[in-house]
Amino acid sequence: MEAAILEKYNSELVIEEVDVEPPKSGEVALRVKAAGVCHSDLYVLEGATPVPPPLVPGHEAVAEVIEVGPDVQGLSRGDLVVTSFIWPCGRCRNCARGHENLCERFSEVRLKGVLLDGTTRLRRRKSGEPLRIFLGGLWAQEAVVPASAVAKLPPRLANRPELAMLGCAFLTAYGAVVNSGSVQPGDTVAVIGTGGVGLAIVQVARAVGARVIAVGRNPEKLKLAAEMGAEVVNARDGDAVAEVRKLTDGRGADVVVEAVGSEQTVEQAIDMASTGGRVVLVGLMGLGKKAPLHVARVVRGGISVIGSYGARPRVDLPKVIGMVERGLLRPELMARDFYKLEQINEAVEALRSGRSIRPIVLP
Ligand SMILES: [Zn+2]
Ligand SMILES: [Zn+2]
Repeated sequence: MEAAILEKYNSELVIEEVDVEPPKSGEVALRVKAAGVCHSDLYVLEGATPVPPPLVPGHEAVAEVIEVGPDVQGLSRGDLVVTSFIWPCGRCRNCARGHENLCERFSEVRLKGVLLDGTTRLRRRKSGEPLRIFLGGLWAQEAVVPASAVAKLPPRLANRPELAMLGCAFLTAYGAVVNSGSVQPGDTVAVIGTGGVGLAIVQVARAVGARVIAVGRNPEKLKLAAEMGAEVVNARDGDAVAEVRKLTDGRGADVVVEAVGSEQTVEQAIDMASTGGRVVLVGLMGLGKKAPLHVARVVRGGISVIGSYGARPRVDLPKVIGMVERGLLRPELMARDFYKLEQINEAVEALRSGRSIRPIVLP
């Protein structure tokens, strides 16, 4: 099969023939139908998330199960699935406590570019060299992932390549809004960032009955947020914090979700929250990067600052799929750009430049 390989940081991806070993215990082999291109992939390409190359990126996809490994229940050859970027081991302390998005075993292997057993199933055909993966290795025709990372799609959601976005953007949005933000119907939610994750947060927050204010800098993406039912604030036009306060009778938002990951936007998120409000941090910064915290505001305002990493693939991803089935979430609004695997570098550039919200690769 063919896969897009990152040879070294900050270089173009190359398409190469790759051999795939069969799935081991608890794993499934997949034929990838569509895969999303996400900012977290860009961090890997740049080495800011230091997974050692050579590796195959790509961590959200729609795929068909082509082989089921030993000890896997509930999945069969031919099933259509969405794959999440989170792989719960199901046995560690956090998995047992119901926080499988924070799986201890997964966090051990995440930056090593290997599966839960510490090895990879991919080898370059020309050299036999093992290939690492970034949370799936889904910019490829085939992949092997833990069965705990996939959720079945109902047949009526077949032929919907944009559903690849459910595995990262929408799963992250669900975790931020429902699990970490505890957003209630009628709450005002400010969302900073109008990329794939930001717009998915707008959709999930609207779906649970919140009033949503989207804060961004790209007029086209803000227009899309407005079509999704958000009020919008263009941060280029002035003081975004003052604008959000004005729209909320001076109080600020009950919940602010920060989906950019910059010093400035983290600061704005704290300043936009109402007294007693919650700030949910979703945007990632490069490893080791920090943002200052306005402690007096957090303390006196009784503000909760909550980190939110994905959501539970076996509990929440089926709910996200159900929300799409019932028309509550519409990932198709964000999927406008489709690429063949050979065009992977164009797809990456389209995301990097801000031209595309969520490029979709069709291997
Ligand atoms: Zn992602
Ligand atoms: Zn675990």
